[in-house]
Amino acid sequence: MIEFKDVSKEYPNGTKGLKNINLTINQGEFVVIVGLSGAGKSTLLRSINRLNDVSSGTITIDGQNITTANSLKLRKMRLGIGMIFQNFNLVRRSTVLRNVLSGRVGYHSTLRTAFGLFPKKDVELALNALGRVNIVDKAYHRADQLSGGQQQRVSIARALAQEPKIILADEPVASLDPLTTEQVMDDLKRINENDGITTIVNLHFIDLARKYATRIIGLRQGEVVFDGPVEEATDEA
Ligand code: ADP
Ligand code: ADP
Repeated sequence: MIEFKDVSKEYPNGTKGLKNINLTINQGEFVVIVGLSGAGKSTLLRSINRLNDVSSGTITIDGQNITTANSLKLRKMRLGIGMIFQNFNLVRRSTVLRNVLSGRVGYHSTLRTAFGLFPKKDVELALNALGRVNIVDKAYHRADQLSGGQQQRVSIARALAQEPKIILADEPVASLDPLTTEQVMDDLKRINENDGITTIVNLHFIDLARKYATRIIGLRQGEVVFDGPVEEATDEA
């Protein structure tokens, strides 16, 4: 369970990214956050794994406060949270398999991984993750030889290799064409349903949100202006 309590975020230049957010997201939910560019979607998502710090309030994950966690605890908490970005954030010249294995890096010393010494169990886990997004045949291709949609599926596999409880996806389909968009969203949805991974996705298209979400949270100027089941979401959300 993810809980926001009175969370606000003000950037150093005075821009208010989030204003007094109170939210509870339960295990296994598939939440889509919608809103125009600048509404605060990224700020909200990146607060959950503390890619950005909040200015006030607390965010707890299964009762553990991530906003005040020290670096060791933060590292542990982040292992349970897979992150997917708009631009995939893969190491382009590395193989698909190595990219997915990097999802496991938090578990090992950097020295070991620098030499490519991954335990057999991790390689199996990574290949399994690639299988779950139907892309295991690309394991030994270079990441930059893949199409955008395939690269995004690799980044989903990288998140899965962490064996996360939570997946955060920040505009995961914004760089993709409509067909590939559906494939990536279908993957996220299937994984959510099969594995019960709490999934929070930022989107700027309400139609796509309606198709996939069980719950929609609408943001406007850093405030929650809608929070409810998909049937109740209007275009105003
Ligand atoms: P988004 O797709 O989330 O709208 P942006 O293009 O607005 O992303 O932001 C890209 C990067 O620029 C992000 O790292 C964001 O934190 C930063 N950024 C966005 N708005 C501002 C701003 N007004 N001042 C400084 N940095 C900003
Ligand atoms: P969204 O993801 O919905 O596009 P963001 O969370 O990126 O919205 O941005 C929310 C607000 O915070 C916007 O006004 C944006 O310009 C501002 N912002 C984002 N990142 C920064 C930053 N690094 N510095 C200053 N302002 C920022």
